Amino acid sequence: MELANRVKTLTPSATLAITAKAKELKSQGHDVIGLGVGEPDFNTPEYILEAAEKAMRNGFTKYTPAGGIPELKQAIVNKFKRDNGLEYTTDEVIVTTGAKHALYTLFQVLLNKDDEVIVPRPYWVSYPEQVKLAEGKPIFLEAKEQNGFKLTPEQLKAAITPRTKAVIINSPSNPTGMMYTRQELQELGNICLEHNVLIVSDEIYEKLIYTDDKHISIAEISEPFKKHTIIINGVSKSHAMTGWRIGYAAGPSDIIKPMTSLASHSTSNPTSIAQYAALAAYSTNEEPTKEMRHIFSERLDILYDLLIDIQGISCVKPKGAFYLFPNVQEAVIQNGFDSVDEWAKALLEEEKVALVPGTGFGAPENVRLSYAISVDALKEAAKRIKRFVMNHQ
Ligand code: PLP
Repeated sequence: MELANRVKTLTPSATLAITAKAKELKSQGHDVIGLGVGEPDFNTPEYILEAAEKAMRNGFTKYTPAGGIPELKQAIVNKFKRDNGLEYTTDEVIVTTGAKHALYTLFQVLLNKDDEVIVPRPYWVSYPEQVKLAEGKPIFLEAKEQNGFKLTPEQLKAAITPRTKAVIINSPSNPTGMMYTRQELQELGNICLEHNVLIVSDEIYEKLIYTDDKHISIAEISEPFKKHTIIINGVSKSHAMTGWRIGYAAGPSDIIKPMTSLASHSTSNPTSIAQYAALAAYSTNEEPTKEMRHIFSERLDILYDLLIDIQGISCVKPKGAFYLFPNVQEAVIQNGFDSVDEWAKALLEEEKVALVPGTGFGAPENVRLSYAISVDALKEAAKRIKRFVMNHQ
């Protein structure tokens, strides 16, 4: 069967591929340490499970409005006010099947053929694919490692063309853990406003920050910024709820409304039970999130110190998310490999440590390590990586 052109260039998620390989080795009885995971290793908090169970028992197992139940939309509006000082109405919010589907729906609504979306590189693997699926063109701009993986205003300005529809800002970032300051966001945002470019602000890691820096949503800088921004967020990372599939988008209602119409024909609605679970997540205190952040923060410090001690590996210390994105190019060369992909493959085969080559994120000198596993496993992983590098000197 001849398939549609749109899937011919689709690349499978790099993160899922390495996780599958690691699982295969594990099932063969190997002691594999997986640093590829993109989800918190904590259980969804008990009070959220209870709310979901109650929702089921109370019969909330039917279709809901396409854009989400009014109570959850209101809870999201309240969350924006509380956490970000942002005033939205429920017409300016859509609840989606994970943040991923919020982004997918947004690009479907926004882009015509060959419309350009600026994607800072390294990027989260799904951005370029989703833009392409909407017939748009991802325009990659290198957020240089020497610049802390941040895009500069000059770079952004130079890349804007009459076809530029949007720019993606992901702070804190997956895979680098980088965060923009208010000043930096202001400068980038000014350029977007000047050229009427929509800002897509993916804030899914908002709650996972390990420095004293406060999360800044670019939309909170000014009212004109807010009018030019679509915020993407969700409960997957903040409440250890990846499997529940609840995300959302907030922004001008003339974009949210067609997104809701599109969702009504694609998903119908996000799972009813999961929506009640998310409602509980946003209606209760943030203790579980704080605890999770505390544990991640300790792991980050431990793994970072162990990694930079390995010859040929350097690393910009992340401020948020739960990944390290070290540059291993020197080690790759010293160890006699042609590419980071080969180096990572050999590391998995010889030492049974699974990490994700940066190639999938548009950064072929780096690898991504997730620290969503125990401290003991992280220490053992670092020991094995060090041994691998030494053995290949
Ligand atoms: N955006 C970024 C940067 C992510 O890393 C992820 C998940 O890995 C998502 C969005 C999607 O999150 P969700 O589970 O809500 O679809």
